[in-house]
This record gives sequence, structure tokens and C-alpha cells, in this order.
Amino acid sequence: MARYTGPQCRLCRRESMKLYLKWDRCYSDKCAFERRNYAPGQHGQRRGKLSDYGVQLREKQKIKRTYGLLEKQFKAYFKEADRQKGVTGTNFLILLERRLDNTVYRLGFANSRSQARQLVRHNHFLVNGRKVNIPSYLLRPGDVISVREKSRSLGVINEALDALPRRGLVPWLELEKEAYRGTMRSLPTREEMPLPVQEHLVVEFYSK
Ligand code: SF4
Repeated sequence: MARYTGPQCRLCRRESMKLYLKWDRCYSDKCAFERRNYAPGQHGQRRGKLSDYGVQLREKQKIKRTYGLLEKQFKAYFKEADRQKGVTGTNFLILLERRLDNTVYRLGFANSRSQARQLVRHNHFLVNGRKVNIPSYLLRPGDVISVREKSRSLGVINEALDALPRRGLVPWLELEKEAYRGTMRSLPTREEMPLPVQEHLVVEFYSK
């Protein structure tokens, strides 16, 4: 699956918010957004008022970049959310949160979603005891995600677990740190998802 490989800090500066795409650096004074809180590029400091379309576009890009997705896959999630019953915007965020790479990140087995994606790809995780190496795999309530026995000594996973208290565990997941295991207790509610985004703008964007 294709992915964005350009400079990540540039994305935070473009979206005018910290997307936490790099681990330690995001919490340090080296964070590019903290240092240069304006859009990248020659005219970055001359940001004018956005049109309605511009506001919707930026909100869409913000969410897409937070989860590290490209347009085609992102739009496919929207279509699926639109097909489901309930509030489309909330359904959309729930689908994104159910991804295996996102859950690995949320459980603290990785320090960023891109790192989680790489670890999943490299076969370090089991879902309900079976090897799964597809980052977009959608989890269901009750699913158990565990680190494979031989991967438990990996420094990158242990360092990430130690750093989890910095961002905290989300309420719909349960972590048994000593057992390198986590469970999806339920689907998240909108109130539980720690995303400072206005998903209804994405709905408006795609509904045109
Ligand atoms: Fe964004 Fe700052 Fe992290 Fe770079 S260091 S990815 S600008 S939050």
C-alpha cells in the first residue's frame, strides 16, 4: 500500500496543529510546529482567510494525515461510513480507529502510527492468536491483539510501552502490559475519541 514519504513536520505546519507524527520529537522543544507555527513554503506566513471549501478541505487533510492515509483509501472509509446506520462522521472516525495499525499505536506498542504500520507489516503481532500483517485490518470488540513471543524483547516496542503514560490509554482498549496483550473492549464513542477535529466538515466535503 502506497504511503506518504515526505517530511512529516511539514504536514503539522500545513494543518496548523500538532499531529504527533514523530514520537519523542513531538514532545520536545525541537518540534517544528512549536518553532515555526506557520504554513510551510515561501508564502506560508501570509495565510489569508479560507473559503468554506478551504475549511472543509483542511479538516479532511488533517484527519487523513493524522491516520497516515492516502486519498483513495481515506475516501473508501468515508463511503463505508456513509453506508452504515447512524452519524456518518462518527462512523467514519470509528472505522479509522478500528484499524490494526492505529490500535497498535493506541495500545502503546508503537510510538507513532507509521511505526505501528511498519511493525504490523513485519509480522510482530497476533490478532486472536493468529498472525496478521495487514495494517488496515479492522478490529471488532472482543479482539485480542498481542505481541508475538519472539518480538517481546524488541527495544522499539518496550520503549513505546514505557512512553505510553505520556499520551494515556484510550478507554475502549484494555492493556495487559506484562503480557504484551491488549483487548478492544468496545467500539469507541465520539466523546471517547481524543481527536480535536470537526468530522462533519469532511462529510460536507465529500457530499458535494
Ligand atoms: Fe508535528 Fe512537531 Fe511531531 Fe513534527 S515534531 S510531527 S511538527 S508534532
